[in-house]
Amino acid sequence: MSGKVYLIGAGPGDPGLLTLRGKEILERADVVVYDRLVSPAILGMCNPCAKMVDVGKMPAHHKVKQSEINKLLVQLATENPSGVIARLKGGDPFVFGRGGEEALELVAAGVEFEVVPGVTSAISVPAYAGIPVSHRGIATSFHIITGHERELSAPTSSVIPAKAGISLDFDALAQCPGTLIFLMGVANMEFIAKRLMECGKDPQTPLAFIEKGTTPYQRTVMATLATAGETIARENVTAPAITIMGGVVELGKTLAWKKNLPLSGRRLVVTRAAKQSSGITARLTALGAEIIETPMIETRPVDVKGWLDLANFDTLAFTSTNGVESFFDQLFAAGYDVRVLAGKKVASVGKITEKKLLEYGIRCDYVPEDHTGEGLGKLLASSPVDQARILLLQGNLADDTLLKLLPKAHRWVVYETLPVLKLPEWKREAVALADAVVFASTSAVENFCGGSPRLAFCIGRMTESAARKHGFETVTSDETTMDSLVKKIVEYYGA
Ligand code: SAH
Repeated sequence: MSGKVYLIGAGPGDPGLLTLRGKEILERADVVVYDRLVSPAILGMCNPCAKMVDVGKMPAHHKVKQSEINKLLVQLATENPSGVIARLKGGDPFVFGRGGEEALELVAAGVEFEVVPGVTSAISVPAYAGIPVSHRGIATSFHIITGHERELSAPTSSVIPAKAGISLDFDALAQCPGTLIFLMGVANMEFIAKRLMECGKDPQTPLAFIEKGTTPYQRTVMATLATAGETIARENVTAPAITIMGGVVELGKTLAWKKNLPLSGRRLVVTRAAKQSSGITARLTALGAEIIETPMIETRPVDVKGWLDLANFDTLAFTSTNGVESFFDQLFAAGYDVRVLAGKKVASVGKITEKKLLEYGIRCDYVPEDHTGEGLGKLLASSPVDQARILLLQGNLADDTLLKLLPKAHRWVVYETLPVLKLPEWKREAVALADAVVFASTSAVENFCGGSPRLAFCIGRMTESAARKHGFETVTSDETTMDSLVKKIVEYYGA
């Protein structure tokens, strides 16, 4: 018995281009073996308990050899009987992804596997640049070619021996009327262009280099076959990039639909508690930024004993969505249901908590107009409820505002907030390459364990002074709201 290996295509970069099947497997993987081109957003979707193995370090660092990766997959499958081993590769695993070599090795070792195809960069990256790879009347075929000849001449699988002498057939390529799409080897493109022209391809053939396609860093550089070499040098085209040649490239001038957004090309770290961050992440992503979400604090339910004591209270007050979730999770886990709340009044500090309660079928009786703890305390103090029969359901870090205004009330701590002390390695690396951190609370600053970057966008003055104390350069929103913070970030990068 051995585990099962899934060869999964991660798509070209945009996390939205991962398949549903791929996501589903990543969410329950025990081990994830991933390549360099896989985006942090996709790594962030993986089962948080999975062992993450990076086999594609940057070229300067040690890169794991293909033969070692093949062996590693077999070894992981053997060590994890009934385990789910996700082998996550950029684009599609079988398009210059060496997925075939890995699969052969798995077959030879008797390890069960499945292939989850991915959206290949060969087609999707041109699409994001507004270049259709085929077009009626312009191109009736398209061809995906490696620009990295060595890959073709030296397979490393021990299962099939290398066939000597395979290399690009420039004569055939030059005569081919279809669209030519080269993956890898931008550095070889000057040579490839020269050979194609020598073999008779028109020097005026339109050509585009598309760098980091589908990511917030996407860039398209147009040239012709004749100017390919000088354009790469002048524009400093760097990997990963695709080279596409043919009449269809002209269409990109009209069809380029992906607009540069105010935050295009910016990588920001968002540091809110996991459940709360998606709002700001979605907004900054929509503005073009790449977001690395790193929860710096995590909440954990605190064991509630004494459910029977609930009978002693007739008003329950919640001051956070975490409090609501922890309370009900535990209530249900203890074998009760919402009927134990029959006849009780329910109070909420504000709209968001009120909405969360509604998800559990509970309508609030008391919500203060100003949405503050103080407002809630005053509202309850002036309402016809028995103070001694009020139960506050809060986190361990909740301040004493409510208890001071309602001295006879009782409090149950239903969840606690703990700092995340260590980030996984892939996340540390992603954070180190970010342009700035976004702090939406002082506790996020206190608990930030990412090291660099040095620039922090802060929500309000309190967060700002905490960030300064920790040595950050700060840019602070005018008001203590998410709207104001997002506006400030856009202003900063727009300037
Ligand atoms: N299996 C992958 C290709 C792996 S080879 C796929 O199906 O897409 C790696 C090459 O793919 C890179 O050198 C580059 O040419 C291309 N590539 C991958 N992602 C890319 C991206 N986001 N933008 C441009 N080129 C990309």
